[in-house]
Amino acid sequence: MSLSSIHLSDDLHQYLLEVSVDEHPALQGIRDATAAMPNSNMQIAAEQGRFMAFLIETIGARRTLEVGTFTGYSALAVSLALPEDGEVVACDLSDEWTSLGRPFWEEAGQTGKIDLRLGPALETLDSLISSGQSGDFDFAFIDADKTNYQGYLERCHTLVRTGGVIAVDNTLWSGRVADPDATDANTVAIRDFNAALAADARFSISLVPIGDGLTLARKL
Ligand code: CA
Repeated sequence: MSLSSIHLSDDLHQYLLEVSVDEHPALQGIRDATAAMPNSNMQIAAEQGRFMAFLIETIGARRTLEVGTFTGYSALAVSLALPEDGEVVACDLSDEWTSLGRPFWEEAGQTGKIDLRLGPALETLDSLISSGQSGDFDFAFIDADKTNYQGYLERCHTLVRTGGVIAVDNTLWSGRVADPDATDANTVAIRDFNAALAADARFSISLVPIGDGLTLARKL
């Protein structure tokens, strides 16, 4: 799950939120609306949204990519941290899920900054590359189907500038990556992805144990 950071008690999580996360009302709105959905634990934790916003501010990002938008919380958290002329190119397959978030993007005045592309993300990313946008992005967030993570990383490596950051979600996968008995396709995919990234000389990385594990990869 990822509604809170792993191994954080409820009391300590609540305290952390109180002292460090001032959630925008529209983000709260998405959280409340998503809570009723069966897949609600696919949403990132509030402290992870704040962390990503902090990162966006710190690296001075203007153009960002998102692979896997779900109900729009992370796209809005990133968009709110971008300058007025900033942009999130958000990729998702589901009109149903993203439709839940869109009224909240509007409420927060961010609709013009979020360019939602419905369709297979690999195709969307390839089209950005073929239209000459390689190196044009400052930040990417990968949080879609786990078995395609390596393919998403390759495309984001092309699209993100040198010095830009790619953040990859769920890299601790509720701890299953460290359980040798877990051999399902998603666990194996994330385990293989983590091992490959650790050996990938194209990036400087840090696996941050926030949410369900968020690996930051800076393009060298
Ligand atoms: Ca996730």
